[in-house]
Amino acid sequence: MASVISDVTCPECGYEYCLSDYYYKSNERFISCGRCGYHRIDAKGINLKEPENEEEQEGKGIGAYTFYPKEGKVGQRGCFGKEKQREEFLNWFEEDKDELEEATITKKIDGGWYQIDLFTREKTKIEKDTPIRRSENK
Ligand SMILES: [Zn+2]
Repeated sequence: MASVISDVTCPECGYEYCLSDYYYKSNERFISCGRCGYHRIDAKGINLKEPENEEEQEGKGIGAYTFYPKEGKVGQRGCFGKEKQREEFLNWFEEDKDELEEATITKKIDGGWYQIDLFTREKTKIEKDTPIRRSENK
C-alpha cells in the first residue's frame, strides 16, 4: 500500500530522523524512532504535536533494529518495546545470520545512543542529527 515517508523529530529522544510513515488511503500514520525505539500510531493522521485521538497507540522503546537479507535485499526495521524483544531478535540473528547481509540494533550506553553492527560488533554513536540508513535507501 502506498505511503508517504518523512522525517519528524522524536518526541522522546529528540532524534531528527524519526520516521513518519503516512498511509493516505487508510489515513494512518506510523511514527517510529530508529534511535530510541519510540513508536506511535495515529489512526487518523492527526498532527504530531496535538494528540487528541483516543485511537492513538504509543510506547517508549529501548532501541530499534534493522536487517537486510542476502536474498531480495529488502531491509526491515522496527522498534524494541521490551528487553525480551531485543533478546528474541538477538537469538533469531544467531540462528539466521547466514542468510543476512547486515543487521544492527541500537542501544543506550552511558546516556548515549549507539548503533551496533551485529556482525562486526562495531558501535557507532547516533547523535540527534546522525541519519540512519534505511531499507528504502538501499
Ligand atoms: Zn527517539
